[in-house]
Amino acid sequence: MTAILICMESKERMINNFIEKCRKAGLKITPQRVAVYEILLSSKNHPTVEEIYEEVKKRYPFVSLATVYRTVETLEQMGLAKKVCYWGSSARYDANTEKHHHLICVSCGAIKDIYLSKDLDIPPELEGFTTEGYSVNVYGLCPECRKKKAEKAS
Ligand SMILES: [Zn+2]
Ligand SMILES: [Zn+2]
Repeated sequence: MTAILICMESKERMINNFIEKCRKAGLKITPQRVAVYEILLSSKNHPTVEEIYEEVKKRYPFVSLATVYRTVETLEQMGLAKKVCYWGSSARYDANTEKHHHLICVSCGAIKDIYLSKDLDIPPELEGFTTEGYSVNVYGLCPECRKKKAEKAS
């Protein structure tokens, strides 16, 4: 399986899809809202709402944190973004809705998308739960943190 690169063209398409969905849902389309999605699409490190807000603010200084929160919520409800659950940190968001898993650095909290070539054999029912999907978190040290650790040790 190959990693999915979001090229300019498909980013454009995804943004148009979002605008279309907003229109159908009767939601107002503002440049700030579009910027939230664009920033999330362009980000590779699964940002928090606050981090998205900091980026949007660079373009639209008067945007409010509440607007960014609401937009991220809307994206989640539309299935265009997902919350990445990871202990010890505030919610991080992902605009990559393809089936994928995560490499998580236990030192700096960096999260990287990974694609596993093998599917896990999760039964449709487990302990009375009906299962819908799964996501694998692999913990470790990212290259930068490994380097820092090696420098400290020497
Ligand atoms: Zn790290
Ligand atoms: Zn991801």
